[in-house]
Amino acid sequence: MTRRVAVLGSTGSIGTQTLDIVRAANATAAAQGVDPAYRVTAIGATGRNLDLLRSQAHEFDVPLIAVSDPAAAGAVAEALPGASVVAGEDGMRAACADTDVVINGIVGFAGLAVTLETLRLGGRLGLANKESLIAAGPVVQKIRSTPGAELIPVDSEHCALHMCLRSNESFEGDRLDQVRRLVVTASGGPFREYTADQLADITVEQALAHPTWSMGPKITVDSSTLMNKGLEVIEANELYQVGFDRIDVVVHPQSVIHSMVEFTDGATMAQLSMPDMRLCMAYALDYPDRHPNSYGGIDWTQLSRLDFATPDTDLFPCLALAYDAGRMGGTAPATLSAANEIAVDAFLDGQIPWTEIARVVEAVLNDHDVVDDPDLDDVLAADEEARARATERLSA
Ligand code: NDP
Repeated sequence: MTRRVAVLGSTGSIGTQTLDIVRAANATAAAQGVDPAYRVTAIGATGRNLDLLRSQAHEFDVPLIAVSDPAAAGAVAEALPGASVVAGEDGMRAACADTDVVINGIVGFAGLAVTLETLRLGGRLGLANKESLIAAGPVVQKIRSTPGAELIPVDSEHCALHMCLRSNESFEGDRLDQVRRLVVTASGGPFREYTADQLADITVEQALAHPTWSMGPKITVDSSTLMNKGLEVIEANELYQVGFDRIDVVVHPQSVIHSMVEFTDGATMAQLSMPDMRLCMAYALDYPDRHPNSYGGIDWTQLSRLDFATPDTDLFPCLALAYDAGRMGGTAPATLSAANEIAVDAFLDGQIPWTEIARVVEAVLNDHDVVDDPDLDDVLAADEEARARATERLSA
């Protein structure tokens, strides 16, 4: 049966790789003379990358194009006269309806509307956009129980945990007491072996050169500061609710083990594959089935070693800041994530050195008055306040 798929953030790293999977699976189906595996019901992005959006719309014959930037919507509509082009958050929400799976590959807090709407509609959310879950965890938790709503993580570590927990039938929560800890692996980023002096002089070009993953600029910088790992710790707690004392981070430079679950009897389950995000997207598209095309299968004749180390939170304080924010709970993760978005943008614009990213985040987090059990308005207010405070600090 053909599955309907909406891809939001379609022009980015996650979006284009999701469409690669659709293209390959449909080509296989055509060669076999069977129905297409997927039909793309909607794509979405800012609208500013017009050429790519247009070529995706044509190639996959997409009926609905969501464009977050209203100023770009006119040009997109002109370029795609046969499609329905809807601007702003209304467009993102419209894209979540009448489909089987929504892949949220939007970067940053801007992905929140898609996360909330997909779950509110009782749909399946393939979530790459970790920032929405981190910032609005308490709000998302409430709507996860909407009948039919399903959240399948696309982030490779959480996809790995999902696979490990699933194989032990503990995923639904009733056996989580048998989980001793979740072990989230980290490549360590490009600066894993740097000294404090070397970290002080990092350029944008260096920060964008990730050793094992090819990703968009924001997450690549987050990986270099280990903020990405910190955000993933909060994400893991939101998804699996084990508490921060039962989530550890281990540096594993080869990025072959994507995460592990240790059980109370000492057994550890790990998920291994070569670093290829398409495995996770395909998992979210086809769950509970396994996707027929292989992404990231291991050639054991080529893999000679797997290394592990403890992360250095003195040199990479963002990881510790994220644990702090996670333990503070309420609106603290929203504050951490928003301040980080502003600081990373400023680093990419050449306004601040790499080491200042952590300082901006720490200062904004320290000034924040946490609202416990926040509603959506509290989350939006915390996000706005953190952005304003971070921006203020940049110009101080
Ligand atoms: P990219 O920067 O490559 O792509 C971002 C996408 O989001 C683009 O399509 C962009 O559109 C779109 N976008 C940006 N702002 C908005 C907005 N306000 N409204 C709607 N769409 C918007 O990012 P990645 O694909 O690397 O990352 C996307 C998300 O997935 C992030 O949350 C990241 O943390 C997560 N993730 C990514 C991984 C990866 O391998 N890349 C791995 C695990 C998680 P446009 O092109 O028009 O600017």
